Amino acid sequence: MDKYLSDLARSIVPYTAGEQPKNNVIKLNTNENPYPPSQHAIAAAANAIKPALRRYPKTDGGDFRDAAALVNKVDAKNVFCSNGSDELLAFCFAAFFDPDKPVKIFDVTYSFYPVWAKFFNIPLDIIPLNSDFSVPVKEMYMSKGGVVFPNPNAPTGMAISLNEVEKIVANNEGKVVIVDEAYVAFGCETAVPLTKKYDNLLVVRTLSKSHSLAGLRAGYAIGSEYLINGLTRIRDSFNSYPTDAISQEMAAAALKDETYANMVYQNILETRKETILALKKLKFNVLPSLANFVFISHEIPAKTLLNELKKAGILVRYFNLPRIDNYLRVTIGTGAEMIAFISKLEKILSSLGYVVD
Ligand code: PMP
Repeated sequence: MDKYLSDLARSIVPYTAGEQPKNNVIKLNTNENPYPPSQHAIAAAANAIKPALRRYPKTDGGDFRDAAALVNKVDAKNVFCSNGSDELLAFCFAAFFDPDKPVKIFDVTYSFYPVWAKFFNIPLDIIPLNSDFSVPVKEMYMSKGGVVFPNPNAPTGMAISLNEVEKIVANNEGKVVIVDEAYVAFGCETAVPLTKKYDNLLVVRTLSKSHSLAGLRAGYAIGSEYLINGLTRIRDSFNSYPTDAISQEMAAAALKDETYANMVYQNILETRKETILALKKLKFNVLPSLANFVFISHEIPAKTLLNELKKAGILVRYFNLPRIDNYLRVTIGTGAEMIAFISKLEKILSSLGYVVD
């Protein structure tokens, strides 16, 4: 019944989120962290429930904002808290970009960016990645309307160096550069220190992957007061309370438990290394990853592997998009999950007549 819809609602092509099945599968399709959240975060939820829920929460994130400032060694006034980083990125499109000035994004990038561009009527200047999916850094200079990219990139997992990020920021003077660091915790250098030097840089983070809190919906951004004020203007024109009282306390406790977070990262990095070795033995092409996932291709079509894995109870992510429609994105799960994944893959490959030595 399209007759009730606005032109926008009728014409937009929404982002497709990864499948969230109810039954027991090995879920390697949405880059969730396979480990539980910090025990301190769980305890904080219980403490927050009693006194806080009668009242509205702090609009600015309260303890969550203070904790994000503390662990990132910045001032609280340089932090903006949100209900997950997707919402925050949507606020960015509204706060910093205009309909007459194209914003630079990569051709292979987080597939939500073009959706927000359409939603906010922002034109895009789409920069093709090199043939090996590396970033043509200079092509990101001198944007007319701003820049947004993930580092590490999604879904490739490949990262650019801090020096290259700085060059992009320095060569976009007067335009906002948004670095989406959803996956930065897994071995990539953060651009947060550069926010003290460049007032046009905004770094966007999420606790979904790094702190095992995808279900909580907690994201934050770090940048100059000018940018934080811009985001606050949009927030207060949309929803003044993006983070609820329980999330604020849980996110703060999770961020402060750095010992636990670092242990989780080490486990994931170790499992990533082992998974890459095993995949290469099975003759997969594996892109160099600094994220909690790997992007892989094989002589056997990705779609065939996707379907066979699904039949075997393993979900991975496939994007039917130009240049990447023969790749699979596989989240790094626990060691046991990845052993099961590799062993199912071996069986699938041999059932398809592929000889593995
Ligand atoms: N940026 C990138 C690159 C992502 O892959 C995701 C997760 N889909 C997000 C942002 C959003 O994460 P969240 O809304 O869970 O914070």
